[in-house]
Amino acid sequence: MQNLCVLGATGSIGLNTLDVVRRHPQKYNVVSLSAHSRVDTMFDLCVEFSPETVVMVDEYSAEQLKLKLIADDYHQIEVLAGAQALIKLASSSKVDSVMAAIVGASGLLPTLAAIKADKRVLLANKESLVTSGQIFIDALAASKAELLPIDSEHNAIFQSLPLDMQTRVGHGKIADYGISKILLTGSGGPFRETPLADFANITPEQACAHPNWDMGRKISVDSATMMNKGLELIEAKWLFNLDVDDIQVVLHPQSTIHSMVQYVDGSVIAQMGNPDMRTPIAHALAYPQRIDSGVEPFDFFNCKNFEFCAADFKRYPNLKLAIDACRQGQAACTALNAANEISVAAFLNEEIKFTEISVVNEVVMKHFSHFNVTTIDEVVDLDSQARALAHDTIKTLDVT
Ligand code: NDP
Ligand code: MG
Repeated sequence: MQNLCVLGATGSIGLNTLDVVRRHPQKYNVVSLSAHSRVDTMFDLCVEFSPETVVMVDEYSAEQLKLKLIADDYHQIEVLAGAQALIKLASSSKVDSVMAAIVGASGLLPTLAAIKADKRVLLANKESLVTSGQIFIDALAASKAELLPIDSEHNAIFQSLPLDMQTRVGHGKIADYGISKILLTGSGGPFRETPLADFANITPEQACAHPNWDMGRKISVDSATMMNKGLELIEAKWLFNLDVDDIQVVLHPQSTIHSMVQYVDGSVIAQMGNPDMRTPIAHALAYPQRIDSGVEPFDFFNCKNFEFCAADFKRYPNLKLAIDACRQGQAACTALNAANEISVAAFLNEEIKFTEISVVNEVVMKHFSHFNVTTIDEVVDLDSQARALAHDTIKTLDVT
């Protein structure tokens, strides 16, 4: 029986995780769950999975959940409030594995706590590696923790690596394994063929309607701008110990191949299947075994053609920014991620245009790219400074 903590339980990854878990009650025991403020969803999860402890980061929501649980006679479930309580959940001795599925930089400290506490960490929160890659990889090396990628591309790359390299996340050297390139695939999002002249009028609803994947709103916008692929490129750099030039982004609109590893002898090993996050989640939950995820088997006789092409930076300026940030170093990556969280939220609130997301991101990234960040405190400090500058930059856009 594996004892599980699901951080970000009410989100898209969290609910998909619990869907896999519900198929295997004899294998997984849900010890703890966290959310920010979605009380009703969390209440339903409490009723179904009977966790020992639940964290609602928002204090009012924690109170609401507590009242609801007591009213329905679920006194035994402990409800905690605040971001600090996430660290307690992630490092609890009652937990073997932590699903890190909080969205954004708020996932940083609890994920790091899980690594330091020697957990098996199922990493969906890509922002952890983007904002503080070296710190995470060093913490991993200094611990007995195990890191398994959930992001579908990274999970695909992991599955396509030699077994020995799978045990050396963050440290294996691709050249030692005869690997020449990592091919990071991306669908290109909903606007792959939209005329560039129409980009300024794209609405949040259009941006969130991804053609292949059903995801949270922030990552859906990131997929539309391809910032998501940029963040994934930085994530891949850290997970697989790569240089930027070891990674090639390949547009593959059907999202059937989830990424590939190219070897020096000409072999290309790809992982493919229907685009459903339950596959990488089930892979990481059961690793090195396999379990049923609930995903339909892939039907080769009824599939669309496989297409591949290069990404155009005019269409996807955020992808270019992320590649530049990856070359420039940690401060640029941390600042870009923070700016993007603010600019995407502003776009979703209809405060800025779709095309202004990259404008805000570029201003903030350039401002901080020469800063030096080596400790987690410096990361947290730069993250908040970058958010403040992003807010200020948005105000300037409002005036013009
Ligand atoms: P969602 O927005 O669907 O869910 C986010 C979860 O985090 C919710 O449980 C939410 O709680 C919680 N949360 C939000 N803000 C905070 C906060 N400030 N502090 C603590 N918890 C918070 O996101 P996704 O599930 O789509 O994404 C989660 C992570 O996984 C992201 O890092 C994303 O990049 C990554 N990922 C997601 C994929 C997908 O298919 N969705 C694919 C690959 C990676 P509440 O519901 O109460 O707001
Ligand atoms: Mg992905």
